[in-house]
Amino acid sequence: MKILDGKKTSLDIQNELGVRVKKLIENGLKAPHLAAVLVGDNGASRTYVNAKVKACERVGFKSTLHHLDAHITQEELLSLVNQLNNDDSVDGFIVQLPLPDHIDENQITLSINPKKDVDGFHPENVGKMTLGLPSFLPATPNGIMELLKRYNIPTEGKNTVVIGRSNIVGTPVSILMSRKSNPGNSTVTLAHSRTKNLKEICINADILIVAIGIPEFISADMVKPNAVVIDVGIHRIEDSSKKSGFKLLGDVKFDEVCKKCSFITPVPGGVGPMTIASLLMNTYLACNEKNK
Ligand code: NAD
Repeated sequence: MKILDGKKTSLDIQNELGVRVKKLIENGLKAPHLAAVLVGDNGASRTYVNAKVKACERVGFKSTLHHLDAHITQEELLSLVNQLNNDDSVDGFIVQLPLPDHIDENQITLSINPKKDVDGFHPENVGKMTLGLPSFLPATPNGIMELLKRYNIPTEGKNTVVIGRSNIVGTPVSILMSRKSNPGNSTVTLAHSRTKNLKEICINADILIVAIGIPEFISADMVKPNAVVIDVGIHRIEDSSKKSGFKLLGDVKFDEVCKKCSFITPVPGGVGPMTIASLLMNTYLACNEKNK
């Protein structure tokens, strides 16, 4: 079994971007600028946003964090989105999800200028992705594709099973894996909460992408020998033996599945860091488009 090292791959991508940023500046252009909007005090969201801002600093991007109170109104948040849409110094921005219950997430996503939508959630970008047109690809699925590419994992003609049909992970990654591209060209099955005989479906997967959101759901008996396993899940589980008070687990029982598969992403250090690399790639792209 080999580890698909998302942490190292993400740092490789960040180093490559760092070189490109230096070139932009040498050519008299400005560094890409990512703005991030965080609403409320969700611990996991705060950790993700901080990691994104830190990665920006590492590659020489400018970053701005807008941290808003959990009680902000829909109108106030829309007004900030509008301000960022019209701020010429901002190349791309994200509104970290989930948002508090009183905020309509769809309305917020729809209000983001697609040209600045570096999370790739706006319907215009989702539509373009589906048609295979250039667009901002959603960060997590794109990070998975980049990891498969950089590890030269063959995907053509393989049976890929994706578990989970969310708009941000399962559905887009199933589209990307089935697209006429490399990586891609897979025969994709998209499994979800209403799927019957999940175990039988999983056991036929050459590539198993798990985005189900249930800690350690996938056991070794659900995995085909030598399969490639991509674990998207991240769960904070209380653990008093850790300084932070919690440990991180994925959707896959890593200890048993790793003995059976050919490649696997660890949690942490797999898909998570690739999501960040992907966001930076999109921001660089947004900046480049503006410079054209
Ligand atoms: P979600 O809760 O929106 O979707 C979960 C999906 O799993 C649903 O489509 C549902 O139909 C399916 N599902 C639930 N129970 C099932 C069952 N018993 N059998 C088959 N399918 C079932 O989750 P999401 O936003 O896609 O996230 C999934 C996981 O990935 C979460 O743990 C999340 O924290 C993590 N995540 C990680 C990253 C990253 O950067 N690593 C990014 C996004 C999400």
